[in-house]
Amino acid sequence: MNNSVFLGGCHATSPQIHVPDGEVSKLMVNGYCTEYEKQIDSFGGLDLQILGIGRTGHIGFNEPGSQLESKTRLIMLDSLTRRDAANDFNGLNNAGHLDIFRSYNGNLLIALDGTQYFSSKSIHCENCNQKHHKNGTTTYSHTVITPVVVAPGNNKVISLQPEFITPQDGHKKQDCENAAAKRWISQNAPVYKHLGITMLGDDLYCKQSLCVLMLEQELNFILVCKPNSHKTLYQWLDELEKMQAVETVIEKRWTGKRHEIDTFRFAIQVPLRDSDDALNVNWCELTTTLPDGKIIYKNAFATNFKISKDNVKDIVADGRARWKVENENNNVLKTKGYNLEHNFGHGGKHLSSLLLTFNLLAFLFHTVLEIGDEKYKLIRDELPTRKTFFDDIRALTKYVYFDNWNSLLNFMMRGLELNSPDTS
Ligand SMILES: [Zn+2]
Repeated sequence: MNNSVFLGGCHATSPQIHVPDGEVSKLMVNGYCTEYEKQIDSFGGLDLQILGIGRTGHIGFNEPGSQLESKTRLIMLDSLTRRDAANDFNGLNNAGHLDIFRSYNGNLLIALDGTQYFSSKSIHCENCNQKHHKNGTTTYSHTVITPVVVAPGNNKVISLQPEFITPQDGHKKQDCENAAAKRWISQNAPVYKHLGITMLGDDLYCKQSLCVLMLEQELNFILVCKPNSHKTLYQWLDELEKMQAVETVIEKRWTGKRHEIDTFRFAIQVPLRDSDDALNVNWCELTTTLPDGKIIYKNAFATNFKISKDNVKDIVADGRARWKVENENNNVLKTKGYNLEHNFGHGGKHLSSLLLTFNLLAFLFHTVLEIGDEKYKLIRDELPTRKTFFDDIRALTKYVYFDNWNSLLNFMMRGLELNSPDTS
């Protein structure tokens, strides 16, 4: 900032420019702030102050509600402010760790999917979703959309912040997955779109309102598009087929055990629904058959990407990566030590969603370590399962005190007779 054209234009020199240090430890913050205020006084006040304005209406990180006479201090930033500011700090992308997740068009794929994390016939709260059964009973549940970054051929997924499917303020109606998805997109697209994003989702997400929202927010999409829920689109396809305007690409593959035949079909600019303002999307389908004609896989997708013979395979591969949100994310969360579906506790109001958030944070933390921490990677690879790894850490930290994370990993490396990597 000191060298910026703007400050140069003000004829301000380095000793006259004071930017608060954002890396002061929490324990020292109060003292640092007092010193900073003293410094301002000693210079006779401020000549010029350059402040940022945020989406929450904050000015210089003074969130709404700050007092007029507030001085330099430590404050808790609104979650929206933190999200907006996150890109200015060193994240996975800045460290180059997202490169292995890059997919068609160099984009990152974000898959959306809903999952349930609490269910009960009796315990409930005003935030529960309710399902009334014919026999007069009610099932109360909490569900959430757990967005993750996925990539074909990559068994890791990066959890992003969840969106809870829960009645919203000012709405009497129960919340639904679609409405929650819209909230997530509206809030998060401004944060992620600069990375180049393609959204993935099942047929439920392949709706005009969601697709239009994604395009408005400069996100791409590849969504499952089934015949039953897209009758108009498939009628158009039938007509195009008669005009021989549906293109086909056939590829034979050897899996190592048998031959499989992939038949890709695609068409461009077909209406998503039956209305005058219908959005035109591009459509593709993959049918995988065995040499005897038996179908072993069939699915179709709608996308905003212009499909051609050159890219249809990549687009289908990205669309299929959606299942990673179930296989690599939700299943791991449910069955590999995180016990996502276990009712950890409902609490009075927000406990179950808080516990779910902790679970997702733990999973994200572990994935980031797997991507970026060499020692963690070595130990995880050495131990047979994720569960063994967790059990070992649980047992060790129950009986032994470790100064820090690194000394725990060093201890485990010694015990497992692993050589320390060069990076610490
Ligand atoms: Zn509840």
